[in-house]
Amino acid sequence: MSKSITGDGFTVDRRAFLAAVGGMGIAAATPTSGRTAPVQTKARIVVAGGGAAGLATAARLSRQLDGADIIVVEPRSDHFYQPGFTLVGAGLKSAEYVTLKTKDYLPSGARWMQERVEEFDPVANKVVTEKGTVLPYDFLVVTTGLVLDYGAVEGMERALIGREGIASVYAGAAAAAASWQALQGFMETGGVGLFGRPATEMKCAGAPIKQTFLADDHLRRAGTRSKTEVVYNAHSKTLFSVPPVNTKLLELFDRQDIKTNFSHVLTKIDPAKHIATFETPTGSVELKWDFINLIPPMRAPDAVRSSPLPWQDGPFAADGWIEVDKKTLRHLRFPNIFGVGDINGVPKGKTAASVKWQTPVVVDHLVAAIGGKEGTAVYNGYTSCPLITKIGQAMLVEFDYENRMTPSFPFIDPLTEHWLPWVIKEKLLKATYTAMLRGLA
Ligand SMILES: Cc1cc2nc3c(=O)[nH]c(=O)nc-3n(C[C@H](O)[C@H](O)[C@H](O)COP(=O)(O)OP(=O)(O)OC[C@H]3O[C@@H](n4cnc5c(N)ncnc54)[C@H](O)[C@@H]3O)c2cc1C
Repeated sequence: MSKSITGDGFTVDRRAFLAAVGGMGIAAATPTSGRTAPVQTKARIVVAGGGAAGLATAARLSRQLDGADIIVVEPRSDHFYQPGFTLVGAGLKSAEYVTLKTKDYLPSGARWMQERVEEFDPVANKVVTEKGTVLPYDFLVVTTGLVLDYGAVEGMERALIGREGIASVYAGAAAAAASWQALQGFMETGGVGLFGRPATEMKCAGAPIKQTFLADDHLRRAGTRSKTEVVYNAHSKTLFSVPPVNTKLLELFDRQDIKTNFSHVLTKIDPAKHIATFETPTGSVELKWDFINLIPPMRAPDAVRSSPLPWQDGPFAADGWIEVDKKTLRHLRFPNIFGVGDINGVPKGKTAASVKWQTPVVVDHLVAAIGGKEGTAVYNGYTSCPLITKIGQAMLVEFDYENRMTPSFPFIDPLTEHWLPWVIKEKLLKATYTAMLRGLA
Protein backbone atom coordinates (compact mmCIF):
# COMPACT_ATOMS: atom_id res chain seq x y z
CA MET A 1 0.00 0.00 0.00
CA SER A 2 1.59 3.31 -0.96
CA LYS A 3 1.86 5.99 1.73
CA SER A 4 0.73 9.58 1.41
CA ILE A 5 2.82 12.72 1.26
CA THR A 6 1.09 15.68 2.79
CA GLY A 7 1.74 19.39 3.06
CA ASP A 8 -0.39 22.50 3.54
CA GLY A 9 -3.49 20.33 3.77
CA PHE A 10 -2.97 18.57 0.43
CA THR A 11 -2.66 14.83 0.19
CA VAL A 12 -1.08 13.05 -2.73
CA ASP A 13 -0.71 9.33 -3.23
CA ARG A 14 3.02 8.53 -2.93
CA ARG A 15 3.12 6.36 -6.05
CA ALA A 16 1.39 9.09 -8.07
CA PHE A 17 3.78 11.65 -6.65
CA LEU A 18 6.90 9.67 -7.57
CA ALA A 19 5.51 8.92 -11.00
CA ALA A 20 4.91 12.62 -11.47
CA VAL A 21 8.36 13.66 -10.32
CA GLY A 22 9.66 10.98 -12.63
CA GLY A 23 7.57 12.49 -15.37
CA MET A 24 8.76 16.00 -14.70
CA GLY A 25 11.05 17.53 -17.26
CA ILE A 26 14.18 17.64 -15.18
CA ALA A 27 13.73 14.28 -13.50
CA ALA A 28 12.17 12.12 -16.18
CA ALA A 29 13.85 9.24 -17.94
CA THR A 30 15.05 10.57 -21.27
CA PRO A 31 15.00 8.87 -24.68
CA THR A 32 18.42 7.26 -24.46
CA SER A 33 18.46 6.46 -20.74
CA GLY A 34 18.33 2.73 -21.43
CA ARG A 35 21.57 0.73 -21.33
CA THR A 36 23.00 -0.35 -24.66
CA ALA A 37 26.44 -1.77 -25.44
CA PRO A 38 29.02 1.03 -25.87
CA VAL A 39 30.03 1.83 -29.45
CA GLN A 40 33.74 1.19 -30.19
CA THR A 41 35.38 4.27 -31.69
CA LYS A 42 38.56 6.33 -31.79
CA ALA A 43 36.61 9.53 -32.45
CA ARG A 44 38.06 12.77 -31.04
CA ILE A 45 35.29 14.76 -29.40
CA VAL A 46 35.72 18.25 -27.96
CA VAL A 47 33.07 19.53 -25.55
CA ALA A 48 33.54 23.31 -25.34
CA GLY A 49 32.26 24.37 -21.90
CA GLY A 50 31.83 22.22 -18.80
CA GLY A 51 28.73 23.72 -17.20
CA ALA A 52 25.36 21.99 -16.99
CA ALA A 53 25.24 21.04 -20.67
CA GLY A 54 28.92 20.18 -21.08
CA LEU A 55 29.15 17.88 -18.08
CA ALA A 56 25.85 16.15 -18.85
CA THR A 57 26.88 15.61 -22.48
CA ALA A 58 30.36 14.33 -21.57
CA ALA A 59 28.85 11.91 -19.04
CA ARG A 60 26.43 10.41 -21.56
CA LEU A 61 29.02 10.25 -24.33
CA SER A 62 31.56 8.50 -22.13
CA ARG A 63 28.98 5.88 -21.20
CA GLN A 64 27.84 5.26 -24.75
CA LEU A 65 31.26 5.27 -26.41
CA ASP A 66 34.25 3.01 -25.81
CA GLY A 67 37.69 4.30 -26.90
CA ALA A 68 36.65 7.84 -27.80
CA ASP A 69 38.94 10.72 -26.79
CA ILE A 70 36.53 13.13 -25.08
CA ILE A 71 37.98 16.46 -23.93
CA VAL A 72 35.95 18.91 -21.86
CA VAL A 73 37.37 22.43 -22.12
CA GLU A 74 36.20 24.39 -19.08
CA PRO A 75 38.13 27.14 -17.27
CA ARG A 76 36.23 27.14 -13.97
CA SER A 77 36.95 24.84 -11.03
CA ASP A 78 33.70 25.95 -9.34
CA HIS A 79 30.45 24.77 -10.87
CA PHE A 80 27.34 26.74 -9.98
CA TYR A 81 23.91 25.22 -9.49
CA GLN A 82 22.32 28.32 -11.02
CA PRO A 83 18.65 27.43 -10.44
CA GLY A 84 19.44 27.93 -6.74
CA PHE A 85 20.57 31.56 -7.24
CA THR A 86 17.02 32.92 -6.82
CA LEU A 87 16.73 31.07 -3.50
CA VAL A 88 20.07 32.51 -2.30
CA GLY A 89 18.95 35.99 -3.38
CA ALA A 90 15.83 35.56 -1.26
CA GLY A 91 17.72 34.38 1.83
CA LEU A 92 16.34 30.84 1.57
CA LYS A 93 19.64 29.06 0.77
CA SER A 94 23.31 29.80 1.33
CA ALA A 95 25.99 30.54 -1.28
CA GLU A 96 27.55 27.15 -0.38
CA TYR A 97 24.33 25.39 -1.42
CA VAL A 98 24.82 26.48 -5.04
CA THR A 99 28.61 26.05 -5.25
CA LEU A 100 29.83 22.69 -6.50
CA LYS A 101 33.17 21.51 -7.90
CA THR A 102 33.63 20.77 -11.60
CA LYS A 103 36.04 17.92 -10.85
CA ASP A 104 33.37 16.07 -8.85
CA TYR A 105 31.13 15.81 -11.92
CA LEU A 106 33.67 15.20 -14.67
CA PRO A 107 33.08 11.65 -15.95
CA SER A 108 36.01 9.25 -15.72
CA GLY A 109 35.82 8.65 -19.49
CA ALA A 110 36.63 12.28 -20.33
CA ARG A 111 39.71 14.49 -19.97
CA TRP A 112 39.37 17.96 -18.47
CA MET A 113 41.37 20.78 -20.03
CA GLN A 114 41.08 23.68 -17.61
CA GLU A 115 41.23 26.42 -20.20
CA ARG A 116 38.95 28.64 -22.25
CA VAL A 117 38.31 28.14 -25.96
CA GLU A 118 39.54 31.27 -27.68
CA GLU A 119 38.91 30.33 -31.30
CA PHE A 120 36.48 28.02 -33.08
CA ASP A 121 37.63 26.96 -36.56
CA PRO A 122 34.86 24.74 -37.93
CA VAL A 123 36.41 24.64 -41.40
CA ALA A 124 39.69 23.17 -40.14
CA ASN A 125 37.84 21.11 -37.45
CA LYS A 126 39.81 22.49 -34.53
CA VAL A 127 39.48 24.77 -31.54
CA VAL A 128 42.33 26.81 -30.06
CA THR A 129 42.49 27.57 -26.35
CA GLU A 130 43.58 30.80 -24.69
CA LYS A 131 47.04 29.28 -24.06
CA GLY A 132 47.36 28.38 -27.72
CA THR A 133 46.66 24.65 -27.39
CA VAL A 134 45.22 23.36 -30.67
CA LEU A 135 42.56 20.68 -30.30
CA PRO A 136 41.60 18.96 -33.56
CA TYR A 137 38.29 17.12 -33.42
CA ASP A 138 36.03 14.81 -35.35
CA PHE A 139 32.99 16.12 -33.47
CA LEU A 140 32.49 19.31 -31.50
CA VAL A 141 29.73 19.97 -28.95
CA VAL A 142 29.38 23.68 -28.12
CA THR A 143 28.23 24.12 -24.52
CA THR A 144 29.68 27.51 -23.57
CA GLY A 145 26.45 28.92 -22.19
CA LEU A 146 26.12 32.68 -22.42
CA VAL A 147 27.74 35.82 -21.01
CA LEU A 148 26.13 38.48 -18.86
CA ASP A 149 26.67 41.85 -20.55
CA TYR A 150 26.56 44.19 -17.52
CA GLY A 151 28.55 46.74 -19.52
CA ALA A 152 25.59 47.22 -21.86
CA VAL A 153 23.74 49.00 -19.04
CA GLU A 154 25.53 52.34 -18.76
CA GLY A 155 26.76 53.01 -15.22
CA MET A 156 26.45 49.36 -14.12
CA GLU A 157 29.33 47.14 -13.04
CA ARG A 158 29.40 43.87 -11.07
CA ALA A 159 31.13 45.52 -8.08
CA LEU A 160 27.91 47.47 -7.44
CA ILE A 161 25.89 44.35 -6.64
CA GLY A 162 24.81 44.52 -3.00
CA ARG A 163 25.43 48.28 -2.83
CA GLU A 164 23.13 51.25 -3.46
CA GLY A 165 20.08 48.98 -3.31
CA ILE A 166 21.28 46.99 -6.35
CA ALA A 167 20.58 43.25 -6.52
CA SER A 168 21.62 40.89 -9.33
CA VAL A 169 21.68 37.18 -8.55
CA TYR A 170 22.69 36.17 -12.09
CA ALA A 171 26.37 37.10 -11.51
CA GLY A 172 27.07 34.09 -9.26
CA ALA A 173 26.79 32.71 -5.74
CA ALA A 174 28.51 35.67 -4.04
CA ALA A 175 26.41 38.15 -6.03
CA ALA A 176 23.25 36.26 -5.06
CA ALA A 177 24.25 36.48 -1.37
CA ALA A 178 25.03 40.21 -1.76
CA SER A 179 21.64 40.64 -3.44
CA TRP A 180 19.99 39.18 -0.36
CA GLN A 181 21.77 41.84 1.74
CA ALA A 182 20.36 44.53 -0.56
CA LEU A 183 16.86 43.04 -0.33
CA GLN A 184 17.06 42.86 3.47
CA GLY A 185 17.89 46.57 3.61
CA PHE A 186 14.87 47.28 1.40
CA MET A 187 12.62 45.09 3.56
CA GLU A 188 13.44 47.35 6.52
CA THR A 189 12.77 50.66 4.81
CA GLY A 190 10.34 49.99 1.97
CA GLY A 191 10.18 52.54 -0.86
CA VAL A 192 10.25 51.90 -4.62
CA GLY A 193 11.41 48.49 -5.83
CA LEU A 194 12.18 48.13 -9.53
CA PHE A 195 12.15 44.71 -11.18
CA GLY A 196 12.31 43.61 -14.81
CA ARG A 197 14.23 41.75 -17.47
CA PRO A 198 16.52 42.52 -20.43
CA ALA A 199 15.32 42.67 -24.03
CA THR A 200 17.79 40.00 -25.19
CA GLU A 201 17.27 36.25 -24.98
CA MET A 202 17.88 35.19 -21.39
CA LYS A 203 18.31 32.07 -19.29
CA CYS A 204 15.36 31.22 -17.07
CA ALA A 205 12.99 33.95 -18.17
CA GLY A 206 10.84 33.07 -15.15
CA ALA A 207 13.52 34.19 -12.67
CA PRO A 208 12.73 37.94 -12.81
CA ILE A 209 9.08 37.13 -12.09
CA LYS A 210 9.90 34.76 -9.21
CA GLN A 211 12.18 37.38 -7.70
CA THR A 212 9.42 39.98 -7.86
CA PHE A 213 6.98 37.67 -6.06
CA LEU A 214 9.58 36.65 -3.46
CA ALA A 215 10.42 40.29 -2.68
CA ASP A 216 6.70 41.10 -2.44
CA ASP A 217 6.24 38.23 0.03
CA HIS A 218 9.28 39.24 2.11
CA LEU A 219 8.04 42.84 2.30
CA ARG A 220 4.61 41.66 3.48
CA ARG A 221 6.20 39.43 6.14
CA ALA A 222 8.44 42.34 7.24
CA GLY A 223 5.41 44.64 7.51
CA THR A 224 6.77 47.20 5.04
CA ARG A 225 4.76 46.33 1.92
CA SER A 226 2.18 49.07 2.66
CA LYS A 227 4.88 51.72 2.29
CA THR A 228 6.38 50.11 -0.81
CA GLU A 229 5.68 50.35 -4.52
CA VAL A 230 6.71 47.22 -6.40
CA VAL A 231 7.17 47.97 -10.11
CA TYR A 232 7.87 45.40 -12.85
CA ASN A 233 9.34 46.79 -16.08
CA ALA A 234 8.56 44.33 -18.86
CA HIS A 235 10.76 44.61 -21.96
CA SER A 236 7.83 43.88 -24.29
CA LYS A 237 4.05 44.10 -24.27
CA THR A 238 3.74 40.95 -22.16
CA LEU A 239 5.11 39.55 -18.92
CA PHE A 240 5.80 36.08 -20.32
CA SER A 241 5.98 34.71 -23.86
CA VAL A 242 3.51 31.84 -23.32
CA PRO A 243 -0.01 33.36 -23.56
CA PRO A 244 -1.85 31.40 -20.80
CA VAL A 245 1.07 31.96 -18.41
CA ASN A 246 1.06 35.66 -19.26
CA THR A 247 -2.67 35.92 -18.51
CA LYS A 248 -2.22 34.18 -15.15
CA LEU A 249 0.76 36.37 -14.20
CA LEU A 250 -1.15 39.56 -15.01
CA GLU A 251 -3.91 38.34 -12.70
CA LEU A 252 -1.42 37.56 -9.91
CA PHE A 253 0.44 40.87 -10.31
CA ASP A 254 -2.92 42.61 -9.99
CA ARG A 255 -3.76 40.58 -6.87
CA GLN A 256 -0.40 41.43 -5.28
CA ASP A 257 -0.63 45.10 -6.27
CA ILE A 258 2.49 44.92 -8.44
CA LYS A 259 2.53 47.76 -10.94
CA THR A 260 3.64 46.89 -14.49
CA ASN A 261 5.27 49.11 -17.11
CA PHE A 262 5.36 47.49 -20.55
CA SER A 263 7.99 48.04 -23.28
CA HIS A 264 10.49 49.43 -20.77
CA VAL A 265 14.10 48.41 -21.49
CA LEU A 266 16.77 49.38 -18.95
CA THR A 267 19.66 51.23 -20.61
CA LYS A 268 21.38 53.23 -17.87
CA ILE A 269 21.66 53.57 -14.11
CA ASP A 270 22.94 56.35 -11.89
CA PRO A 271 24.00 54.44 -8.75
CA ALA A 272 24.66 57.60 -6.71
CA LYS A 273 21.26 59.17 -7.44
CA HIS A 274 19.40 55.81 -7.63
CA ILE A 275 17.89 56.67 -11.02
CA ALA A 276 17.28 54.07 -13.73
CA THR A 277 16.72 55.06 -17.36
CA PHE A 278 14.49 52.99 -19.63
CA GLU A 279 13.96 53.19 -23.38
CA THR A 280 10.25 53.09 -24.20
CA PRO A 281 8.31 53.52 -27.46
CA THR A 282 7.66 57.15 -26.45
CA GLY A 283 11.23 58.02 -25.45
CA SER A 284 13.42 57.75 -22.35
CA VAL A 285 11.84 57.39 -18.92
CA GLU A 286 13.66 57.86 -15.60
CA LEU A 287 12.54 55.96 -12.50
CA LYS A 288 13.91 56.39 -9.00
CA TRP A 289 14.70 53.28 -6.97
CA ASP A 290 15.27 52.32 -3.37
CA PHE A 291 15.88 48.76 -4.56
CA ILE A 292 16.54 47.55 -8.11
CA ASN A 293 16.78 43.95 -9.26
CA LEU A 294 19.00 44.32 -12.32
CA ILE A 295 19.19 41.50 -14.86
CA PRO A 296 21.74 42.26 -17.58
CA PRO A 297 21.44 41.64 -21.34
CA MET A 298 22.76 38.20 -22.31
CA ARG A 299 24.73 37.17 -25.38
CA ALA A 300 26.96 34.40 -26.72
CA PRO A 301 30.56 34.49 -25.45
CA ASP A 302 32.98 36.47 -27.66
CA ALA A 303 34.81 33.35 -28.88
CA VAL A 304 31.52 32.05 -30.30
CA ARG A 305 30.26 35.39 -31.55
CA SER A 306 33.42 36.05 -33.53
CA SER A 307 33.43 32.55 -35.07
CA PRO A 308 31.50 31.22 -38.10
CA LEU A 309 29.13 29.31 -35.77
CA PRO A 310 26.33 31.88 -35.13
CA TRP A 311 23.29 32.48 -37.29
CA GLN A 312 24.25 34.84 -40.12
CA ASP A 313 20.87 36.58 -40.15
CA GLY A 314 17.49 36.47 -38.43
CA PRO A 315 16.59 37.04 -34.77
CA PHE A 316 19.51 35.04 -33.32
CA ALA A 317 22.31 36.60 -35.39
CA ALA A 318 23.06 39.84 -33.54
CA ASP A 319 23.87 38.24 -30.19
CA GLY A 320 25.80 35.30 -31.66
CA TRP A 321 23.53 32.33 -30.83
CA ILE A 322 24.67 29.31 -32.84
CA GLU A 323 22.89 28.12 -35.94
CA VAL A 324 21.50 24.70 -35.03
CA ASP A 325 18.46 22.83 -36.24
CA LYS A 326 15.85 23.32 -33.55
CA LYS A 327 14.84 19.64 -33.48
CA THR A 328 18.19 17.86 -33.76
CA LEU A 329 20.43 20.66 -32.34
CA ARG A 330 22.92 19.85 -35.09
CA HIS A 331 24.70 22.77 -36.74
CA LEU A 332 23.03 23.64 -40.03
CA ARG A 333 26.31 24.37 -41.87
CA PHE A 334 28.82 22.17 -40.03
CA PRO A 335 27.20 18.74 -39.49
CA ASN A 336 29.93 17.46 -37.13
CA ILE A 337 29.05 20.23 -34.68
CA PHE A 338 26.18 20.22 -32.16
CA GLY A 339 25.00 22.66 -29.50
CA VAL A 340 23.46 22.00 -26.10
CA GLY A 341 22.13 24.55 -23.62
CA ASP A 342 21.96 28.31 -23.49
CA ILE A 343 24.25 28.89 -26.51
CA ASN A 344 21.76 27.49 -29.02
CA GLY A 345 19.91 29.84 -31.35
CA VAL A 346 16.53 28.17 -30.90
CA PRO A 347 13.23 29.78 -29.89
CA LYS A 348 13.03 28.20 -26.41
CA GLY A 349 15.19 26.15 -24.09
CA LYS A 350 17.46 28.34 -21.96
CA THR A 351 16.87 26.34 -18.76
CA ALA A 352 18.63 23.45 -17.03
CA ALA A 353 15.44 21.43 -17.54
CA SER A 354 15.84 22.00 -21.28
CA VAL A 355 19.47 20.83 -21.09
CA LYS A 356 18.18 17.59 -19.65
CA TRP A 357 16.06 17.01 -22.75
CA GLN A 358 18.56 18.38 -25.27
CA THR A 359 21.53 16.27 -24.14
CA PRO A 360 20.18 12.82 -25.09
CA VAL A 361 19.04 14.20 -28.46
CA VAL A 362 22.53 15.43 -29.31
CA VAL A 363 24.15 12.25 -27.99
CA ASP A 364 21.78 10.15 -30.09
CA HIS A 365 22.70 12.02 -33.28
CA LEU A 366 26.42 12.16 -32.50
CA VAL A 367 26.69 8.45 -31.66
CA ALA A 368 24.66 7.59 -34.77
CA ALA A 369 26.99 9.74 -36.89
CA ILE A 370 30.02 7.85 -35.54
CA GLY A 371 28.39 4.69 -36.86
CA GLY A 372 27.63 6.35 -40.21
CA LYS A 373 23.90 6.56 -39.45
CA GLU A 374 21.28 9.24 -38.79
CA GLY A 375 19.92 9.69 -35.30
CA THR A 376 16.19 9.80 -34.65
CA ALA A 377 15.77 11.71 -31.38
CA VAL A 378 13.95 15.06 -31.49
CA TYR A 379 13.96 18.00 -29.05
CA ASN A 380 10.50 19.59 -28.86
CA GLY A 381 11.55 22.83 -27.17
CA TYR A 382 10.72 21.57 -23.66
CA THR A 383 11.32 24.38 -21.19
CA SER A 384 10.32 24.37 -17.55
CA CYS A 385 10.24 26.91 -14.80
CA PRO A 386 8.94 26.52 -11.25
CA LEU A 387 7.38 30.01 -10.98
CA ILE A 388 7.48 30.83 -7.28
CA THR A 389 4.60 33.12 -6.31
CA LYS A 390 5.37 33.28 -2.58
CA ILE A 391 7.46 31.33 -0.09
CA GLY A 392 5.91 27.85 -0.03
CA GLN A 393 3.90 28.19 -3.28
CA ALA A 394 4.77 27.90 -6.97
CA MET A 395 3.35 27.01 -10.37
CA LEU A 396 5.30 24.46 -12.42
CA VAL A 397 5.15 26.02 -15.85
CA GLU A 398 6.27 23.68 -18.64
CA PHE A 399 5.90 24.31 -22.36
CA ASP A 400 7.32 23.50 -25.80
CA TYR A 401 8.27 25.34 -29.00
CA GLU A 402 4.60 25.77 -29.92
CA ASN A 403 3.77 27.38 -26.55
CA ARG A 404 1.78 24.25 -25.67
CA MET A 405 1.67 23.59 -21.94
CA THR A 406 3.29 20.20 -21.25
CA PRO A 407 2.43 19.53 -17.59
CA SER A 408 4.18 16.66 -15.83
CA PHE A 409 1.67 16.51 -13.00
CA PRO A 410 -1.68 15.25 -14.22
CA PHE A 411 -3.26 16.02 -10.83
CA ILE A 412 -2.24 19.70 -10.65
CA ASP A 413 -3.30 22.53 -12.93
CA PRO A 414 0.06 24.04 -14.02
CA LEU A 415 -1.42 27.50 -13.58
CA THR A 416 -2.57 26.93 -10.01
CA GLU A 417 -0.31 27.88 -7.13
CA HIS A 418 0.53 24.75 -5.17
CA TRP A 419 2.96 23.59 -2.51
CA LEU A 420 4.24 20.69 -4.61
CA PRO A 421 6.18 22.69 -7.27
CA TRP A 422 7.63 24.68 -4.34
CA VAL A 423 8.88 21.48 -2.69
CA ILE A 424 10.35 20.38 -6.02
CA LYS A 425 12.17 23.68 -6.50
CA GLU A 426 13.35 23.99 -2.91
CA LYS A 427 14.13 20.36 -2.06
CA LEU A 428 14.29 18.04 -5.08
CA LEU A 429 15.66 19.91 -8.09
CA LYS A 430 19.28 20.05 -6.98
CA ALA A 431 19.45 16.25 -6.67
CA THR A 432 17.93 15.76 -10.11
CA TYR A 433 20.26 18.45 -11.51
CA THR A 434 23.37 16.69 -10.18
CA ALA A 435 22.03 13.36 -11.46
CA MET A 436 21.71 15.07 -14.85
CA LEU A 437 25.35 16.20 -14.66
CA ARG A 438 26.31 12.56 -14.18
CA GLY A 439 24.22 11.56 -17.18
CA LEU A 440 21.82 9.63 -14.97
CA ALA A 441 18.72 11.78 -15.40
C1 LIG B 1 19.17 33.11 -11.65
C2 LIG B 1 18.96 31.86 -12.45
C3 LIG B 1 17.86 31.05 -12.19
C4 LIG B 1 17.65 29.89 -12.94
N1 LIG B 1 16.58 29.09 -12.63
C5 LIG B 1 16.38 27.96 -13.32
C6 LIG B 1 15.31 27.07 -12.98
O1 LIG B 1 14.55 27.31 -12.03
N2 LIG B 1 15.15 25.94 -13.71
C7 LIG B 1 15.98 25.63 -14.74
O2 LIG B 1 15.79 24.59 -15.34
N3 LIG B 1 17.01 26.44 -15.10
C8 LIG B 1 17.23 27.60 -14.42
N4 LIG B 1 18.28 28.43 -14.77
C9 LIG B 1 18.98 28.24 -16.05
C10 LIG B 1 20.10 27.19 -16.06
O3 LIG B 1 20.97 27.36 -14.98
C11 LIG B 1 20.86 27.31 -17.38
O4 LIG B 1 19.94 27.29 -18.44
C12 LIG B 1 21.85 26.16 -17.55
O5 LIG B 1 22.86 26.26 -16.57
C13 LIG B 1 22.45 26.18 -18.94
O6 LIG B 1 23.51 25.27 -19.05
P1 LIG B 1 24.76 25.60 -20.03
O7 LIG B 1 25.68 24.49 -19.86
O8 LIG B 1 24.27 25.98 -21.35
O9 LIG B 1 25.40 26.91 -19.39
P2 LIG B 1 26.24 26.99 -18.03
O10 LIG B 1 25.71 26.01 -17.04
O11 LIG B 1 26.24 28.43 -17.65
O12 LIG B 1 27.71 26.52 -18.42
C14 LIG B 1 28.47 27.14 -19.44
C15 LIG B 1 29.93 26.82 -19.16
O13 LIG B 1 30.73 27.17 -20.28
C16 LIG B 1 31.95 27.74 -19.82
N5 LIG B 1 32.48 28.58 -20.88
C17 LIG B 1 32.08 29.81 -21.29
N6 LIG B 1 32.82 30.25 -22.30
C18 LIG B 1 33.73 29.28 -22.56
C19 LIG B 1 34.79 29.15 -23.50
N7 LIG B 1 35.07 30.11 -24.37
N8 LIG B 1 35.53 28.01 -23.48
C20 LIG B 1 35.25 27.01 -22.59
N9 LIG B 1 34.27 27.09 -21.67
C21 LIG B 1 33.52 28.21 -21.66
C22 LIG B 1 31.56 28.49 -18.56
O14 LIG B 1 32.67 28.66 -17.69
C23 LIG B 1 30.48 27.61 -17.96
O15 LIG B 1 30.97 26.72 -16.99
C24 LIG B 1 18.54 29.55 -13.99
C25 LIG B 1 19.68 30.36 -14.23
C26 LIG B 1 19.90 31.49 -13.45
C27 LIG B 1 21.13 32.32 -13.70
